[in-house]
Amino acid sequence: MAKVRVRYAPSPTGKPHIGNIRTALFNWLFARHSGGDFLIRIEDTDRERFVEGAIETQLHALKWLGVDWDEGPDIGGPFGPYYQSQRLELYKERAEALIASGHAYRCYCTKERLDKLREHQVERGLPTGYDRRCRDLPAEDVARHEAEGTPYVVRFAMPREGTVTWTDAVFGEMSWEARILDDHVLMKSDGFPTYHMANVVDDHLMEITHVIRGEEWLPSTPRHVLMYQAFGWTHPVFVHATNILGKDRRKLSKREASAEFLNYERDGYLPEAIFNFMALLGWSTGEDRDMYTREEIIERFDLPGLVGRPAILDTDKIAWYNGVYIRALPLTDLARRGLPYLQAAGLVSGTPGDAEIDYIGRVMALEQERIKTLAEAPQLADFFLLDDDKYVFDEKAVQKWFRNEGAADKLRRVRERFESLSDWAAAGLEEIVRGVAETLEIKPAEVIHPVRVALTGRTFGPGLYETIEVLGRDRSLRRLDRAIGLIDSLV
Ligand code: GLU
Repeated sequence: MAKVRVRYAPSPTGKPHIGNIRTALFNWLFARHSGGDFLIRIEDTDRERFVEGAIETQLHALKWLGVDWDEGPDIGGPFGPYYQSQRLELYKERAEALIASGHAYRCYCTKERLDKLREHQVERGLPTGYDRRCRDLPAEDVARHEAEGTPYVVRFAMPREGTVTWTDAVFGEMSWEARILDDHVLMKSDGFPTYHMANVVDDHLMEITHVIRGEEWLPSTPRHVLMYQAFGWTHPVFVHATNILGKDRRKLSKREASAEFLNYERDGYLPEAIFNFMALLGWSTGEDRDMYTREEIIERFDLPGLVGRPAILDTDKIAWYNGVYIRALPLTDLARRGLPYLQAAGLVSGTPGDAEIDYIGRVMALEQERIKTLAEAPQLADFFLLDDDKYVFDEKAVQKWFRNEGAADKLRRVRERFESLSDWAAAGLEEIVRGVAETLEIKPAEVIHPVRVALTGRTFGPGLYETIEVLGRDRSLRRLDRAIGLIDSLV
């Protein structure tokens, strides 16, 4: 069998959708599984819908996910160029060849005529589509148009009858009646090819063996199969991955936040969690298991595992995956990954030194059990990183724990013993806090809470003694002083 060659062919018309990136991922997995090639081709033939920066975001999304490519717009390759807008001559030549063999023709119909035709068809409830007026134009009319330089498009001469059949790797035996297909445009009047034309010509020239794409392209496939036949080429294997639905089982709208792929990066999901989740979004190993490493997925990925029913984008499941992956991260990794989010929130400078990195690592270690996304890090950990005179005291907490007699006294006692503690570690710190409660003959909670509020500004957080250990002696003493000052100013 020929070497597997697959492609991801984004149109740079907007932000990458989760469906787009899943298509890329399945192609990549299939290539890596089979020792084949994975290439990226930019389908930029629709100049009106071109969005500046869209190519860069597509490539960024793939890199973030850890999907690499063997040929593509940025690295070139033996089948380039990989921008369709740079391949116009190739399409033109192939269109001329189809005209010469009678499989395509020039159509001179004006936009006005086509609009009227459509209006007429819609009014009468007829199927819309081109009525083939130019298909058998008398030779003298063609000559006149040529002499006058009338603008034209090139249309495919669809067989008038017969059935087109092919086997889809997911949907099985497919068959369409040719008569329900109209003569679609291959070349536009501005010399650019349509999607159908450029897609088929390039898949052939780039020796693509398998076209793996979303189900929404299934209705285009009979046209493509007929075009391959008209060219006298064998068509690749078509593989249509089923639609992705929302949890409500409705088609995911493009505007939904969970559909926009880069939101996962922004919101602090780990690429390996998204990779694991997305590989199983319409593909199954047949095992009752959720967690797979990248290597395990590559090893197992094959076309029969693509499922026939729609895939569901279950956002709770994504959050679950993320939690599992975050908890499994080695601490140094967790700190490194959380850093950009802390920097974006202004909690860490652009170039933290070694001591600061070490401190952040210890902070993140305390949050590792609770954190669901990296984007939560600033909000969970800000008190660790804000200056000792900047972290904010929660008003309710102040009300409850500082506005009462004895509050300052408790903190002074704790401070005094903290200062002389030789081994600054959780166990010794706990002993002190409990010891103060004993001396005052009150419940430990009545010391624990004010100490926590004094040091962190709030009433909840990771274990108190671990928190104090990480804050360190100097910070803790400064913070106790600040809280004592605050309490004194209250009364
Ligand atoms: N350019 C098309 C897209 O935006 C590619 C479809 C295909 O893979 O044939 O998805």
